[in-house]
Amino acid sequence: MSFFVRTCMKSLLLIVIGFTVSVMPAATALELIRKTSSAAIVIPAEAGPYEKFAAEELQTLLLKSTGVALPIVADNSQEITPAIFIGAHPANAALAAKLNEFSTRYDRFAWECKNDRIFITAPSNSALSYAVWDFLEKTTGIDFLIPGEMGAYIPRLDVLNINDRTVLEAPAFDFRSYSINADSYNPDEHGFNAGEMFRFRNRFNMWRALDPADTYGWLGSGHSYNHFLPITRYAAEHPEWFNLQADGSRKTTPENGWQLCLTNAESAREFIQNAIPEIEGMKARGIPEERILLCAGANDTVAWCLCEPCQALRDPDGTWSSAVLNYTNLLARELAKTHPKVKVLHYVYSDYGRIPSKVAPAPGVAACITSWTADGSLAVNHTASMFDPVKNAICKAVGDYFAAHCRGIMNYGYYGHYSIFVPFPMVRQIAGDMRGLAAYSNVTGSLSETHNMWATQSPNFYIHAKMMWDPSQDEYELLANYCRKYFGPAGELGFRYFDLLQQRMNSLDRMIGTTAELPAFLDRDVLARCRSLIDAMKPMLAEMDEATRFRTQMVIDGFSLTEKFVEAMELFNWGNDIASRNKILENIAWIENYCQSPVGRFAFEYPMVEGELNQIRMGLQADLLNLPEGNSRFGGSLMWGGGVKFYAVTDNMRPDMWGYLVPAGGTGTLKLPLQAAAGRRITGLNIWCVPDKAETDLYVVADGTEHLVAQKLDNYRQVSIPAELLGCNRLEVVFKSKVEQANQYGLCGLNLEMEVR
Ligand SMILES: [Zn+2]
Repeated sequence: MSFFVRTCMKSLLLIVIGFTVSVMPAATALELIRKTSSAAIVIPAEAGPYEKFAAEELQTLLLKSTGVALPIVADNSQEITPAIFIGAHPANAALAAKLNEFSTRYDRFAWECKNDRIFITAPSNSALSYAVWDFLEKTTGIDFLIPGEMGAYIPRLDVLNINDRTVLEAPAFDFRSYSINADSYNPDEHGFNAGEMFRFRNRFNMWRALDPADTYGWLGSGHSYNHFLPITRYAAEHPEWFNLQADGSRKTTPENGWQLCLTNAESAREFIQNAIPEIEGMKARGIPEERILLCAGANDTVAWCLCEPCQALRDPDGTWSSAVLNYTNLLARELAKTHPKVKVLHYVYSDYGRIPSKVAPAPGVAACITSWTADGSLAVNHTASMFDPVKNAICKAVGDYFAAHCRGIMNYGYYGHYSIFVPFPMVRQIAGDMRGLAAYSNVTGSLSETHNMWATQSPNFYIHAKMMWDPSQDEYELLANYCRKYFGPAGELGFRYFDLLQQRMNSLDRMIGTTAELPAFLDRDVLARCRSLIDAMKPMLAEMDEATRFRTQMVIDGFSLTEKFVEAMELFNWGNDIASRNKILENIAWIENYCQSPVGRFAFEYPMVEGELNQIRMGLQADLLNLPEGNSRFGGSLMWGGGVKFYAVTDNMRPDMWGYLVPAGGTGTLKLPLQAAAGRRITGLNIWCVPDKAETDLYVVADGTEHLVAQKLDNYRQVSIPAELLGCNRLEVVFKSKVEQANQYGLCGLNLEMEVR
């Protein structure tokens, strides 16, 4: 028996028991709704707007499910029956006292069914609505799968019986959220944008809770150096606040990844001076200091400063972990003078993602462990939880260190991936991440950069939201439940589809999250098995209600798009003729077309998809042997050779995962011909390349002669080809790369900017 069938049978059993109890004369279950009679929703006589809001949510959703509109009455009487008492109603006093004994977590709530009355209460306005939605989920199954009306699962019920029970709830993590692109969901629901409403119904409280006063504050949006100390404002007067470069000068312009000098206490004081008004603004809105995190995140690139004090803090492993933590500590000590309860959130990321060897976190620092995959950083392997002691030993050790030395710890996941818009199954990984965090006694919260790929990755989002609240839940049971609600009659097929993808992900040795890895992850066999499950869903569309059909069709479309993209990546990695190039462009056009349709714009986060497609197109769009008049660009990453391999002639170099490999101790050559359209001449040529650690020299062959242009190229340094080598119709760019060690790359990236007249 499949897991899906087992969990559904279990649910069915619960329904049968509920029914059996309700027909017995013993009054252990309340017949809340019947076609002929129904209960009243009772709010306090002086009910506030959020008690009214919660009552209206209950009324509206029950109406959609049962067709019965329960009246809302404002009355302090405790004698009304049958009744559902909401919020600070006197009838809820006993339950509220019980809840306070159960937990002191801010977002706690309770509901109880006793004889013919139901009590729903919470100490905060937002949690009161959480209580209503929880009550509906546990009694009717109503659930919110994706944003908007089409994403709500609302079963049609004729009768609603509710057994006596008491539910006391409190979150495992205080800070909870993932990024939702709320702007893309225009329709309003109950006075809010549907995307906002989805965040509230998933009990997210960072940035903004349902009642703004219940928000868990997050100042500076992660990478906060630029937010609090913009280089454009301060560099002229205080160049010493910014990173010292190898040539002895300070960074003074925003280009090419500036950072702060990591040992300058004066700039830290100014940083805090600029943060205090924002902290005070939050406090004025009713958010106390202990619910505020001040982000201390370096700008989103490698961090370094070559001044002497910063260099002295460089760790023996070559990272800047101690130096960046040192700056966080300066901020935390400064802030503690005036706002000791605000936590300063230290980002563990990029080239400062290791255990610091020279500095320990100051009091007041909380750590945010990012699920970053670079080898020199946390080296996270997405095929397992970030805290998996075998596959992610480095990240686990880093997490343990910061949990033991900080005031709080949270994670930053990539559960809606920033490059991969086809399936990226993280169900088991999320469960492991949430349980790993929960095992730390000072867990603070969880956050994910979630790009909204609803058509392909939405189970991740559902499971993340549920497990931030309660990480003890069984992730596969949640997945089965999700699929049953999401796909209706095709629920089991949906579960088998997502489960197949998940098992495949778990079985891989490594996945860091690049599109170049997709043909190995979604190989022909996996795609064929997915296709047969997807095809089996199609005949069921006719028997679905409108919302279920909309959701199911979106997954069917999402899989067609997946097939197109994986085929394109297969050709991009391993194709070697011009027909491959044309087929890739054809598939990309299909994907863009779908993503710009009304459903496609909802199903995928289009700007991110477009960015990825542009990366691929950049290595394909210019035909290097027929360059048109004007300026054109070419290049990108050289993963599996990129677009370069369709033109290049190589000797002792071969395309591989990250670029062109050269055998140990050898020199590889890559010759790239460039030719202008007939009658035109190449008049300008700029080159940037990534030779990684290889010693790479650049030559140009013009008029049959090879000229040395630049020696020992640096990563991303611009090389302009001298005018005397230009002016011809055709030339050849030649890279010669010498490598020392085995499995070393000669060339990992290449960009060309060409001018033709
Ligand atoms: Zn410095």
